[in-house]
Amino acid sequence: MGKTLIFGHKNPDTDSITSSIVMANLEKKLGNDVEACRLGNINKETEYVLNYLGMEAPKLIEDAEDGTEVILVDTSNPGESIPNLENVQIKKVVDHHRVALTTPYPLYFRTEPVGCTQTVMYKLYKENNVEIDKTIATLMVSAIISDTLLFKSPTCTDEDKKVATELAKIAEIDMDVYGMDMLKAGTDLSSFTIEEILKLDAKETNLKDKKSIIAQVNTASIDDVLTMKSELEAGMQKIIAENDLDLFMFVITDIIESNSKAIVLGNSANIAEKAYNEKIVDNVIELKGVVSRKKQIVPIMTENA
Ligand code: MN
Ligand code: MN
Repeated sequence: MGKTLIFGHKNPDTDSITSSIVMANLEKKLGNDVEACRLGNINKETEYVLNYLGMEAPKLIEDAEDGTEVILVDTSNPGESIPNLENVQIKKVVDHHRVALTTPYPLYFRTEPVGCTQTVMYKLYKENNVEIDKTIATLMVSAIISDTLLFKSPTCTDEDKKVATELAKIAEIDMDVYGMDMLKAGTDLSSFTIEEILKLDAKETNLKDKKSIIAQVNTASIDDVLTMKSELEAGMQKIIAENDLDLFMFVITDIIESNSKAIVLGNSANIAEKAYNEKIVDNVIELKGVVSRKKQIVPIMTENA
């Protein structure tokens, strides 16, 4: 039997990458033969974290051989995972999203409605009496800061805050300083093409029967990103045509002001107007106080589809 592969979702974010490393460390401490993997390129924010720790990224894989044992972190959604997920053996899932998986066999499934997978990981370490060292603590707290946008996202729970505060002590970081530097590193879009920017954090989502993509980027200035508006629109139109989409929503989130604007295109763009009771002006809609796709966009858009 080969190594058990541990990975998060495609278009990996800081939680997916760090959770695969942190879970691999836990499993190794428990005597299991595992390897941390990833299903895509490292983003700038995660690169900041790995550079801070002088750490290599997990191994890049596209799929796993049929029959391989795997552990899923930060998602249970087959649509965001390896293409042959039904042919591998899922041993465990550790996550904080809606349950999106059924298997014909029993498995360890741990999910909690908290802001970050790492908040659940922290408990797994405690339950298994495995020490959280400085490196592991830094990885964990980075992901909590990332997923909760420094505790400002409505997905953030008191538990996330409490765990992050504990971890920051072990990691010996000032969360506000380190966190803002890390989040800002993630907003640097200068090295990406328009096509890459549109794909950085894009989720294919069906809003009832409407085939949609909702992509999101974080920024310190929405206006800066909107200087690329016409190029972004052209890129979005191309993706809409190629994939026969009903809607493409590109959400630009100001991580300092905790606000968003979105470019909305496609035949079903008016869903956004209904959902937020706002007019789309020149393809752009204001999303006041919106930062979380999971809590403040997908459910409301689905309801109004
Ligand atoms: Mn994630
Ligand atoms: Mn997450």
